[in-house]
Amino acid sequence: MTFKEFNFKDTLNQAINDAGFTEPSPVQKDSIPIILEGLDMIGQAQTGTGKTAAFGLPIIQMMDGKSKVEALVIVPTRELAMQVSDELFRFGKTAGLKTATVYGGTSYNRQIDRIEQANIIVATPGRLQDLLKSKKIDIKPKFVVLDEADEMLDMGFLDEIKNIFTYLPKDRQTLMFSATMPKQIKLLAQQILNNPKSVTITKSERTNTDIAQKFYVVADYERDDALLRLIDYKNPSKCIIFCRMKKEVDRLSSYMTSQGFKVAALHGDMEQKQREHTIRSFKQGLVEIFIATDVAARGLDVNDVSHVFNYHIPFDSESYVHRIGRTGRAGNKGEAITLVSPNELRTIKRIEKDVGTTMVSKVIPTRQEVQSKKDSDLLNKIIQTEVTPSAIDMVKTLQHDIDIVTIAHLLAAIVKKEVDVKGKDIIGLGQEEIEKLIQRAKNQRGGDSRNSRGRGRNRGRGGNRRRDGHRNNRRGGRDNRNRDRS
Ligand code: ADP
Ligand code: MG
Repeated sequence: MTFKEFNFKDTLNQAINDAGFTEPSPVQKDSIPIILEGLDMIGQAQTGTGKTAAFGLPIIQMMDGKSKVEALVIVPTRELAMQVSDELFRFGKTAGLKTATVYGGTSYNRQIDRIEQANIIVATPGRLQDLLKSKKIDIKPKFVVLDEADEMLDMGFLDEIKNIFTYLPKDRQTLMFSATMPKQIKLLAQQILNNPKSVTITKSERTNTDIAQKFYVVADYERDDALLRLIDYKNPSKCIIFCRMKKEVDRLSSYMTSQGFKVAALHGDMEQKQREHTIRSFKQGLVEIFIATDVAARGLDVNDVSHVFNYHIPFDSESYVHRIGRTGRAGNKGEAITLVSPNELRTIKRIEKDVGTTMVSKVIPTRQEVQSKKDSDLLNKIIQTEVTPSAIDMVKTLQHDIDIVTIAHLLAAIVKKEVDVKGKDIIGLGQEEIEKLIQRAKNQRGGDSRNSRGRGRNRGRGGNRRRDGHRNNRRGGRDNRNRDRS
């Protein structure tokens, strides 16, 4: 199917073309016809599935382009407001539509001016409620969208939302989008939507199959080592590491920086300017590792994140879904890697069950395994490198004093040093130990084995390695000496 089948106006088809979209995504295929019919709708689909265009395109199609604030989109955060308005601007500009963003922390007057000029506004709940309550603006949107409704709930915006709707015209088309559908969101939908149609992207589609989900079992004190080893091994182009607390974000960023990575940290109480700057550097690839808390990374839309690391497993399933949704976007492949301690295995089980997904247990590669991979990558690189005139000159100069084999050895020593893998030989638990722990966790839950779907049964390469000493380490993490002997 193509976008042609929706019979959009030429200006809109042009914009879709310019955006490089060729085929509508599943949530777009299902939602667009319903919205074009003028019906209210509630849509559930995971992040990165193209929900913005799912409501943006049909709304822009139906807008007359003359009325001011003909469409209102409410989103939970400032970052999202900017992202969504960028995307809507892209689709609307060929039709001459103006878009404005409305959020807290900036001057009221300038925003009010822009709102009065705009056809579409994208707003966060707090500031929007202020403006409506104080009668600084009076808007009559025909189209109202509540985007990322579950996030709004998580962030405690439910009352603001309900209040905002008291100021909006009854005669409107209302759409609601959410990655998950908790009960309170369903209740809210009953209040603000009128006979809504629902679009649910089915479970298998919703669990983004472009994301490989893996977990590694480590002792608590091994997390830093495990992270470094995995990053060394997987060599991500761009990755996000999620932490639970701001304090952890700060500590881990200094640590990763000290290990030579280009790192940026993002957490909730950073200044807006600084946040925007940080996100931009990450998008542009100036920063390779992004370390963030859940709240800070809400809605973050960076398309080519290759890996998401959960430094700790998040407590709730929804936050897991949101975190891993930062990778595998727009049809790219991604990997989501979670570090867990043995007593967090039950959280894995719970999340798998809640989300309807499977995480595969893996063993952290040994120093030697990573070294072999890096060495063979280096050999390939050497073979494929083209000789340059300046390189030839350099060897000629060296040959005055040193024989050619020694020169080769010296050069090899220099490049080899670059790929030397540091750290302990073995980090984390082996496959057999993980299986035992999973079994034990299952038994603890009173024989709840219905949900074991053979996860963890994959026999990784390192399945039979000796891992003496882990049993002690796991408990208290006191005995580092054991580790070094194994
Ligand atoms: P969601 O709101 O579901 O998290 P977004 O609307 O932010 O997802 O879309 C994620 C990314 O996918 C954006 O960069 C968007 O431009 C892109 N995208 C959306 N629809 C399509 C499509 N049909 N073809 C290609 N890319 C798309
Ligand atoms: Mg979205």
